[in-house]
Amino acid sequence: MAVSLYSSGDSGCPSIEKRRTLMPDPSMQIPVTCPECAMESLGELSIAVIAGALLTGNSIRLHAVCHDIYWTATFVERERLRQTLRAMKVDAMQPRKKAEPLRRSSIR
Ligand SMILES: [Zn+2]
Repeated sequence: MAVSLYSSGDSGCPSIEKRRTLMPDPSMQIPVTCPECAMESLGELSIAVIAGALLTGNSIRLHAVCHDIYWTATFVERERLRQTLRAMKVDAMQPRKKAEPLRRSSIR
């Protein structure tokens, strides 16, 4: 008798859905090359962290899962991140809004 109360709303797992739409700290997947074995894998970093580091010149920590090592992003890797971020911003975050030229130039 105690089972029937929640069984109907339980199947869709609404909590996951909610988390996705809120996205409190959106992250992006970035291709990283392991310095040990040169294997390419996908890492995930917070967009805010990457954008902040690129703007302020702070170092970015990358992680390779195959060897479980961390390293600081090189100039080339930073440039790649910058481009990825820019493409993403145009694509997802500012759909058909060509304002904010100041912001773009400062990221450069
Ligand atoms: Zn490796």
